Amino acid sequence: MSRPTKIVIDLAAIRANCQLAQALAPLSKTLAVVKADAYGHGAGPVAKALAPLVEMLTVSCLEEALILRQAGIKKPILLLEGFFSTSEINIAINNDCEFVIHSIRQVEQLLTVSAVRPVKVWLKIDTGMHRLGLSPEDAATVYGQLQGATNVGDIAIMSHFSCADEPSADYTKKQLAIFNQCVIKLSNSSGECSIANSAGILAWPESRLSWNRPGIMLYGLSPFSESQDNADKLIPAMNFESAVIALRKVKVGESVGYGNTWTAQRPSIIATIAVGYGDGYPRNARTGTPVLINGQRAALVGRVSMDLISVDVTELDPVQVGDGVELWGKIC
Ligand SMILES: *Cc1c(COP(=O)(O)O)cnc(C)c1O
Repeated sequence: MSRPTKIVIDLAAIRANCQLAQALAPLSKTLAVVKADAYGHGAGPVAKALAPLVEMLTVSCLEEALILRQAGIKKPILLLEGFFSTSEINIAINNDCEFVIHSIRQVEQLLTVSAVRPVKVWLKIDTGMHRLGLSPEDAATVYGQLQGATNVGDIAIMSHFSCADEPSADYTKKQLAIFNQCVIKLSNSSGECSIANSAGILAWPESRLSWNRPGIMLYGLSPFSESQDNADKLIPAMNFESAVIALRKVKVGESVGYGNTWTAQRPSIIATIAVGYGDGYPRNARTGTPVLINGQRAALVGRVSMDLISVDVTELDPVQVGDGVELWGKIC
């Protein structure tokens, strides 16, 4: 037997989460966000699972898009950060990518190259996040320039929320109002616009416009800190599993792990699990963090090691070496 530590990705859950996003916004098209290796879930397999369900996929940059092309994905891909240098422009166009244009610098660069064919651009407006995007005033100027440019095909308009995960935030309404004004003012010919991320799709019906951009919700994670009706229907897609590799009894007053940070207050049974921060388990997880062993909740004790953790199983039904452990996933 090899080390039992593994991530199991449930692609059916990812598809179901995508279908939930689409059921909430039946009139919107979907730009499925698979950036950063599909939030760590594996961009190729996730994109393959989602491609039949969605109109487009979206990633941060050209490198991520080319990984999807190598995996055989044919859907058009939007680059959320656009291009980083003019040398990427034609490679992206030849690979059926579209650009978010978030700065005047990118507009100038796009207009200077000789593009192999006109490319669709998504003009990003800064409606209050103050991270990427043009001010509404600059957007109006730039929109005119882009419209007349031979390198530019359709122009869609987009923006991004900063507080949509707080269901009562007036700020989201303010951002939406600014965005809607821009859309009207620019009266973009194709009428394509997009602002909703997962939180928008789940909790802000008025943000569901012609295109939505679900990210974190696809993976079964709620963007909200509290329970929320729609988000509660999401299915976690990542299951992090390992197994018990040793068991020991510790006496009252004996400590477990680095730094002796946990000391037994009663005679205890400690299970050692083959997982640690080197596997992506959080190094700062504290004593008491729940771990599931044979379907029963037990508590992490002491510090997380590089490739091991210790769990107090004193109160559980008898645990044996080899028993399965779930660190997170559907049940935790
Ligand atoms: C990452 C990202 C998303 C997805 O956001 P979630 O909160 O994960 O749904 C949408 N739009 C843009 C521009 C992003 O960068």
